[in-house]
Amino acid sequence: MNGAPASWPGWPGPVGDGPVQPGHDGPETLTTAPSVLTIDLGALVANWRSLHRPDGPAVAGVIKADAYGLGAGPVATALYEAGCRHFFVAWLQEALAIRSSVPDAMVAVLGGLIPGTEQAYVARGVTPVLGTLEEVDRWGAIGPAILHVDTGMSRLGLSPAEVDILAADPGRLLCPLLYVMSHLVSSEVPGDPLNTVQLARFETARARLPVAAASLANSSGIFLGPSYAFDLVRPGAALYGINPTPDAPNPMRPVVRLSIRVLSVRDVRAGETVGYNATWTARRPSRIATAALGYADGFLRSLSGRAVASFDGTHVPLVGRISMDLTTFDVTDHPAIQPGSWLDVLGPDLTADDLAAAAGTNGYEILTSLGPRYQRVYLPA
Ligand SMILES: *Cc1c(COP(=O)(O)O)cnc(C)c1O
Repeated sequence: MNGAPASWPGWPGPVGDGPVQPGHDGPETLTTAPSVLTIDLGALVANWRSLHRPDGPAVAGVIKADAYGLGAGPVATALYEAGCRHFFVAWLQEALAIRSSVPDAMVAVLGGLIPGTEQAYVARGVTPVLGTLEEVDRWGAIGPAILHVDTGMSRLGLSPAEVDILAADPGRLLCPLLYVMSHLVSSEVPGDPLNTVQLARFETARARLPVAAASLANSSGIFLGPSYAFDLVRPGAALYGINPTPDAPNPMRPVVRLSIRVLSVRDVRAGETVGYNATWTARRPSRIATAALGYADGFLRSLSGRAVASFDGTHVPLVGRISMDLTTFDVTDHPAIQPGSWLDVLGPDLTADDLAAAAGTNGYEILTSLGPRYQRVYLPA
């Protein structure tokens, strides 16, 4: 579509800004912003709901890293209003930032209990995820906690030797355990034998520890089958539209749309080059559109010459180097693209997974790299 992002077919208008009609000047913020990141909270909530199974486990929301770059506040509020009562973040300050938005929900900190932070956990009702015996001892009986056991990541969580020590001396664990949890190494690869190995290790560790509810699966782990479900699943990526089943069509709805404005369109003669270091040469007389997007916006420089933008259902190739604030596209075959046109670089037909494949990374890095400079529009849940 050539209109403002809010006129995208099938998407309602932006929150609180009133309707934006195609061909009609939108709110000041929309018409002046050179780049608009639209986050569809309705799709987010639909994705969260779709991960529920009849008689299945509770479904948490993993909203670390500012909800994978999409905004922890709006995301937490939308999930909470949909009924989500379990939230995971990486660090205590992320928990404190959303604590009052999700008043009676569990907010758990995956990263471990940094010394000196214990009283802040207690004061704000935040749940630590204890991952070493030292943390278990330091937390003592202060409040409920989650116990993390390592089953193969070798990153956080009690080692098998530490589980042995605790099993031999159960009185050492003084606090109520909300969950025993672990984390899968290769859940997006269903055939990886590590999945069953980790499942067996998790069952073994659980059997040796005090009775508690259990949590193992991240987004992709949910799709490994009911034996991985336990009492609570912990999806992050899938909520935000990243494909949890990379070898099959994406079952999740797209959540993110990134629209950028064309600033200028110029004619370039055959043989002329475009951009830093002249990495692209026009083979024919070409029209080059310069758009408001660069690596300072988290649009990875490694996408230079590899990404496309979507316009009116067709794709236009990105040419030359991505620079700090600007990116160039070959729009020779698209005369309708004019200064002021909007191009999408993320959207329903261009997913974070697509960009990740072009950049040689994963969808998580694409989303968490999205910069603070975009005008953000949240579509209501
Ligand atoms: C990030 C994280 C998750 C969520 O993983 P996704 O693959 O994004 O669903 C779950 N559990 C732990 C321990 C994590 O660190």
